[in-house]
Amino acid sequence: MNDTQKAYRKNIHLTFPPQVSKEPVVCNLTRLFDLTFNILKAQITPRKEGYLTLELVGSQENCGKAIAYLKEHEIAVSPVDQRISRDEDSCMHCGMCTAICPVDALHMDWVARTVTFDTERCTACGLCTKVCPVRAMHVEVENGPW
Ligand code: SF4
Ligand code: SF4
Repeated sequence: MNDTQKAYRKNIHLTFPPQVSKEPVVCNLTRLFDLTFNILKAQITPRKEGYLTLELVGSQENCGKAIAYLKEHEIAVSPVDQRISRDEDSCMHCGMCTAICPVDALHMDWVARTVTFDTERCTACGLCTKVCPVRAMHVEVENGPW
């Protein structure tokens, strides 16, 4: 797969009012907009509001349409301001994270024998933080309702 074929990914927070919490609005994103999604976090409060953090995957145009659809159904949508950083002192450039990064934000330079980290490409999915043996990759969620 080359760079132009990479799927667009967007992380969003959703807040559902109680009357919408039981409706299959999120499942409809696949059927109506040809998107896949990964649930990064989910919670229902005692007042029965629902909170979801989702990663949407598909075309950029359809992600935009899906967000408009969610808003039409009284769901509050806000972007996830999530950031990934690398501790340059800890990183051993072992390359393990390059195998798991879905968007090639981590790339092994075989000549220099170092792993480069392209923060512009990173979608902050957090996968690399789980495989790094020295915990050099860190995730910070900087907004969201919970
Ligand atoms: S897995 Fe960790 S130590 Fe290895 S290259 Fe990636 S960030 Fe560096
Ligand atoms: S969080 Fe890590 S695995 Fe996910 S896109 Fe960014 S660099 Fe790649």
